[in-house]
Amino acid sequence: MAFASYTPITCKTAMTRVQGMPFDWSLNPYRGCTAGCTYCYAREYHAKMRRDLGRGFDSQIEVKLNFAEVLRAELSGPKRSGSIALGTATDPYQAAEGRYRLTRKSLEALVEHPMPLSIVTKSAMIVRDADLLARLAARTSVRVYFSIGSVDPDLARRVEPLAPPPAKRLEGLRRLRQAGVSAGVLVAPILPGLSDSEESLEAVILAAAANDACFLHPRLLKLDPHVKDYYFAFLLAEFPALLESQRALYTRGQHADPRYAADIDRRIERLKLRYRFGDDPRGEPERGPEQMRLSLAS
Ligand code: SF4
Repeated sequence: MAFASYTPITCKTAMTRVQGMPFDWSLNPYRGCTAGCTYCYAREYHAKMRRDLGRGFDSQIEVKLNFAEVLRAELSGPKRSGSIALGTATDPYQAAEGRYRLTRKSLEALVEHPMPLSIVTKSAMIVRDADLLARLAARTSVRVYFSIGSVDPDLARRVEPLAPPPAKRLEGLRRLRQAGVSAGVLVAPILPGLSDSEESLEAVILAAAANDACFLHPRLLKLDPHVKDYYFAFLLAEFPALLESQRALYTRGQHADPRYAADIDRRIERLKLRYRFGDDPRGEPERGPEQMRLSLAS
């Protein structure tokens, strides 16, 4: 899976209206993602467009060359309200960003026309843009989420074969925090049978605390129909002993059995309490320096 092709394309729109999510618009400068995460929900969009949701998604990357210009025009047009999520169907800091810099150019457009922004990534490349994030944060809310479902490098290599290892993501988190950017951890996805144990979750939360995360949110694995087939094929190849229990857990559809989900919620809440992560729907840092000292001392 080392080889990827990059196809330049042009886009007509950059901002996509989103319903039923905690944000109002999504931005995806690339289509496809070379991180190759086996559970990636964005594979579903690929499947629905009748594209190859496997190697095709992982290795045939479309690069929306005019993305930032289109975004700038949209942002400066009739007033748009709400918040933006950058990187909902692709990692905006995947390898291609090093060359094409579409995410950086998008941030430049947002600095000129600010809207509240959240970014999800697995890459420390985002530290390159700390200057723009700080400038935008001076005018509106900015939150960066590092997606870390487990800190076990062996598990990460198997389920996210070409994503930066968890230690690199934590380093990115620490450096962004040092640059004054509001950044935290999305414990996502929590993989039943693989990264849902108390020990595994505590290791992520402890690492988040140690690297100065100012918020932390969990997400349990969600399996849309095509992704479910893809992920179960991966389990069959790599963790065959888990397959039947996972099928049973997801018999109702895309979400895990609600009793299991409630158990995981309770586990996470206990751990968040232990490491003093709160819940602040205002989008402000949830965990101050004093809390950090307290939790590291405990
Ligand atoms: S980094 Fe995100 S978008 Fe890319 S493959 Fe992994 S889950 Fe999907």
